[in-house]
Formats: sequence, C-alpha cells, structure tokens
Amino acid sequence: MEKCVWCNRSERRLKNITVETPNRFGLNAGGKKMAVCPEHAPRLKKFYFLVYRMAKWYVLVLVLVGVLALLGLAPLVMIDQQGGNVDFWAKVIYAPLLLPVALLPVVFPFATPETVKWMGVRNSIILARLLGVCLLGFCVWWVLHGV
Ligand SMILES: [Zn+2]
Repeated sequence: MEKCVWCNRSERRLKNITVETPNRFGLNAGGKKMAVCPEHAPRLKKFYFLVYRMAKWYVLVLVLVGVLALLGLAPLVMIDQQGGNVDFWAKVIYAPLLLPVALLPVVFPFATPETVKWMGVRNSIILARLLGVCLLGFCVWWVLHGV
C-alpha cells in the first residue's frame, strides 16, 4: 500500500498527480509524480505551486546571509583587536542576519526532499515552522541577553 505524500498515511485509494518541483538548490527539477489522498490533492498542488515559485529565492537569501555572515567576521576581528565590545557588535551584525533565516521557514516552510519523503509534506511544514519559531526565540533571547 502506498503512502500519501501529504499526510504520510497508508491509503488504499490514492490519486496520482504530477506537480512541478524544485531540487534542493531551488532549481527546476521538472514534474514529479506523487501519490496523494484525493482530499489532500488540492492542498498539495497549492503548496508545491508556492514551493516552485519561491524556492530559488529562498536558497538565494540563505546563500546571501551565509556570505554576509562570513564577511561580518572581518569587522568583528578588528573590533576585538582594538579592544572593542565584541559581544555588542556581534549582535549588531548577526541579529539582522539571523532574523530572515528564522522568519523564512515560518513564512515558507520548505524542507529538504529527504525530510518530505520521510515524514510527508504536512509534517515537514510543521517541522520547518517549528524550527523557524525556535530560531526566532533564540534570536530574541540572544539579543536581549545581557543588555
Ligand atoms: Zn493524505
């Protein structure tokens, strides 16, 4: 018995639909056949339409944040060498970078193809949002910590 890609339940009467999907880099991976409960098909189509349109921007933002995070090390090292307040400046530089990383999975809860395959689309959405909220909480705690 096949599993529904949306709810991860084994169902007898699954509907095969083809949706456009991106790969892990957010690039077009073409149409992919998916087995889904008839009642979950519209939600699955809607979700993958969003994923398909937004995935490349999602990956681009993460790459950009990664590059900026590396570049941010240079001024921190300089501030440290001059005996400045590294704790404070680390927050100034990295809090604005952490914020989009935490907010992205809340707004666009995209998981890796492996995660989706393992737990189903619906659970992967919940997991991605949960991780985003945790990161957001950490971000707020870190910024307010020791102020
Ligand atoms: Zn289902």
